[in-house]
Amino acid sequence: MALRVSTARYPEIMSNYIPYGRQDINQADIDTVVEVLRSDWITQGPAIERFEQAIAQYCNAKYAVAVSSATAALHIACLAAGLATGDILWTSPNTFVASANCGLYCGAKVDFVDIDVNTYNLSIKALENKLAWAAKAGCLPKVVIPVHFAGQSCEMKKIAALSQQYNFQIIEDASHAIGAKYQSKPVGGCEFSEMTVFSFHPVKIITTGEGGMILTNQEKLYKKLIRLRSHGITKNPDLMQGESHGAWYYQQLELGFNYRMTDIQAALGSSQMNRLDEFVERRQFLAHRYNELLQYLPLTLPWQDPETESSWHLYVIRLKLDKISKTHRQVFEELRQAGIGVNLHYIPVHTQPYYQKLGFKAGDFPQSEQYYQEAISLPLYYGLNADEQEQVVTKLAGIL
Ligand SMILES: *Cc1c(COP(=O)(O)O)cnc(C)c1O
Repeated sequence: MALRVSTARYPEIMSNYIPYGRQDINQADIDTVVEVLRSDWITQGPAIERFEQAIAQYCNAKYAVAVSSATAALHIACLAAGLATGDILWTSPNTFVASANCGLYCGAKVDFVDIDVNTYNLSIKALENKLAWAAKAGCLPKVVIPVHFAGQSCEMKKIAALSQQYNFQIIEDASHAIGAKYQSKPVGGCEFSEMTVFSFHPVKIITTGEGGMILTNQEKLYKKLIRLRSHGITKNPDLMQGESHGAWYYQQLELGFNYRMTDIQAALGSSQMNRLDEFVERRQFLAHRYNELLQYLPLTLPWQDPETESSWHLYVIRLKLDKISKTHRQVFEELRQAGIGVNLHYIPVHTQPYYQKLGFKAGDFPQSEQYYQEAISLPLYYGLNADEQEQVVTKLAGIL
């Protein structure tokens, strides 16, 4: 049966289409997953702890909790931080909606801090100003979620200093940034935060299909996260109210969820962890190559803070629209039509209809909105080869 699908609407079905991101699964990854499928445990087994330990060790964090997605991770991290009705959470508008939605799940109010013009991360100056204002207005945040956009760490030392002064907790959304470094140390060590969250969606640096992880150095948070991941239930008699009834007994101590990762996913994650450095090195190499190949085009290339080493989840260019005769949308659509799977990260969260209903307006965070008018994410992933990368550059140069 002939299947007719419009290549205009679904460009990814073109045979030579270059996507913006994709996973890399090798034979070792497959073998590790098959081994778990043949074992006694496909969930709640030993592969989970192995994966957690591999990441905790890599990041130099004391504890790690694997969950079903980074969205789930952000949700229970907020709950563990004590975020509840009447509290306030701040994050960057230049992120995936999940970094803000987690606050709403907890009944808290969400607000944003505009981005830095160079890094596209939350601006430290804007954060300082907004905290000073909020202290007077009596609406300081309980939790701030800095997002390490594209894999480049935020200025965590400065954010941590402000958290001391204004008494908020920090949850790093490092969905883009496993394998990245800040001040020469791995992102995820939680030196400047309460908790750090990773995502293992297939477009991210390593994958488990769907999956996420929370890291922390605080035992109390760790124990709370473990409970929240699995219905708020404990089998540990020491934590129970009254006596255990016997070997079958468990108690639900609070309202939790089923946010567990399966052993099938965790096994894939452990195998992918063995390849993390190789993945990041390749992304760094391709990003530097883009920098060279694109340097003479009317574009702003990604700026790097010397205190950071990005994991290069995304390679984002900004069009210098005053030097181009086409619109941003034209350039984007012509690239898609040419088989280049460009994308746009991100639509400012506060401009989403759902957030507009909460009272946010266009114009509230002008730097993130200006950025959105000009930004394009070019294809960048481990398996992108030199030829494909040159195709991207040639097509882009032709269009500009
Ligand atoms: C991908 C992503 C998430 C959500 O991750 P999932 O694992 O898909 O739930 C959250 N925040 C950011 C910044 C992301 O890029």
